Amino acid sequence: DPQLNSNYTFDNYIEGDCNRLARSAGYAVAAKPGGTSFNPLMVYGGVGLGKTHLAQAIGNEIKRNMPDKLVIYVSCEKFCQQFVDSLKNNTINDFVNFYQAMDVIIMDDVHNFAGKEKTQDIFFHIFNHLHQSGKQVILTSDKAPKDLAGLEERLLSRFKWGLSADLQIPDLETRIAILRKKMYADGIELPSEVVEYVAHNIDNNVRELEGAMVSLLAQSTLNKKDIDLALAKQMLKNFIKNTSKEISMEYIQKLVCEYFEVPVDMVKSQTRKREIVQARQISMYLSKSHTKSSLKTIGAFFGGRDHSTVIYACQTVEDLIDTDKKFKGYVHDIQKKLKMS
Ligand code: ADP
Ligand code: MG
Repeated sequence: DPQLNSNYTFDNYIEGDCNRLARSAGYAVAAKPGGTSFNPLMVYGGVGLGKTHLAQAIGNEIKRNMPDKLVIYVSCEKFCQQFVDSLKNNTINDFVNFYQAMDVIIMDDVHNFAGKEKTQDIFFHIFNHLHQSGKQVILTSDKAPKDLAGLEERLLSRFKWGLSADLQIPDLETRIAILRKKMYADGIELPSEVVEYVAHNIDNNVRELEGAMVSLLAQSTLNKKDIDLALAKQMLKNFIKNTSKEISMEYIQKLVCEYFEVPVDMVKSQTRKREIVQARQISMYLSKSHTKSSLKTIGAFFGGRDHSTVIYACQTVEDLIDTDKKFKGYVHDIQKKLKMS
């Protein structure tokens, strides 16, 4: 099947909270096309989040296990074009028969049906024929069926029959795993702080995430292991807008409070609650080591305290780093996040 791209498999589709339902539903469909209640299976989500990859992986998995199944992958756009051509050439019957003969149809980006009433009509009939014969329909879309504008109600109601599962932006860990998998596939190794830097800073979609890495590799004539963080920041300055921004006490406060899940303004308050004191002292310590602010300025910023309080806080943090492994881990984690920005 020339329409299926064998590079898109389940094996290289990293699982995360962002795609767990869609991925497992896709896997179930691939094991039993037409034989689950996920018919149609609709996968939806924003640009570059992995819809095409997952849809293709389903098709490839079916072909791998059941080579005799007729599987067609077609973008909605191409389908619309083929329909128009068949009208022009008087081959509409061939067009319909071709699709109705399939065991599995995968149609990508069905939001592109918007406004195309005649093509929607034809697809409505093809859909019904396939569904009634127990054949599998897999759809992708940039929106949930209920939010798709410009599609006919009867078609939308069909789209809602089976299961709709969304893809979200992968979390940091999943983004790192995606980059690692891709590097592994390409036989490349980048230092892990570079991988983490990229994953940390590109958090809108997977395509851009991969694009940043490709750009990094393309620019470098070095051995990939010798691309260090500073060089990576330099090479990605067009990809990542906020590079080399100065670390402020505000930013430190935000990171620390996020890390310990305490309200941001609490560290400036007078409270002596243990977890707040800890967040405050670490914030002061990091402000001393990562900003150019004086002890006096730091004290003033964190709730109008004097410079001796800051000295005491730094001393306490240093002592705890030496004696308390868990505490050392906390500070280490936060420092790593700071370095990433
Ligand atoms: P969409 O169709 O939603 O716009 P794509 O399927 O084209 O997105 O995905 C964009 C890129 O990101 C592709 O190279 C794809 O392989 C990759 N990708 C997306 N999600 C994952 C994932 N979970 N694991 C591995 N690669 C992924
Ligand atoms: Mg796509």
